[in-house]
Amino acid sequence: MIWLGSGSRRSTMVSPTSSTLHTAYDSKIEGNVILTRVDAAINWMRKNSLWPMPMGLACCAIELMATASSRFDISRFGMEVMRFSPRQADVLIVSGTVTYKMALAVKRIWDQMPEPKWCVAMGACASSGGMYRSYAVLQGIDRLIPVDVYISGCPPRPEALIEGLMELQKKVEREESTMAQKKVYFDAIS
Ligand code: SF4
Repeated sequence: MIWLGSGSRRSTMVSPTSSTLHTAYDSKIEGNVILTRVDAAINWMRKNSLWPMPMGLACCAIELMATASSRFDISRFGMEVMRFSPRQADVLIVSGTVTYKMALAVKRIWDQMPEPKWCVAMGACASSGGMYRSYAVLQGIDRLIPVDVYISGCPPRPEALIEGLMELQKKVEREESTMAQKKVYFDAIS
């Protein structure tokens, strides 16, 4: 458990066993103290700084680009930092028709993104192949990589993408502790 102080007074981070424990009960600084858990603080920071990796594959990508424009302003959610390097991105936004020719390239980019990472399937094509029931088109990106949020529409409006990203924020907020997420790794080294 931690206390995070803020405001005009000096910030503090103390453990409950610390000799500065009494500062949390000082009525003069009470308004500047937040009581929380490390996991909640980490999830709060993650959900408000999701950096998208745009994967524009067809017409839906135009709506994705519009989402970053001043009219819709994705930066209100801390997501304006579109990264074109998978190593710096948290959210893969697959927008457009995923052909078999492109599918393995999308998978490779997903594999290159560091954990924790999330995927949004934007539009009918990315979610299910859309109207292309064809030998050349993958019938949904979830056949290759796990999808966290599906957004319907052909194409979805930028508002729909923003709503989908807000749903993703709710999901990130509820995620298990970092220890639980990495249980396999911790078990392997213990
Ligand atoms: S869902 Fe519609 S708009 Fe989006 S890529 Fe497919 S055909 Fe184009």
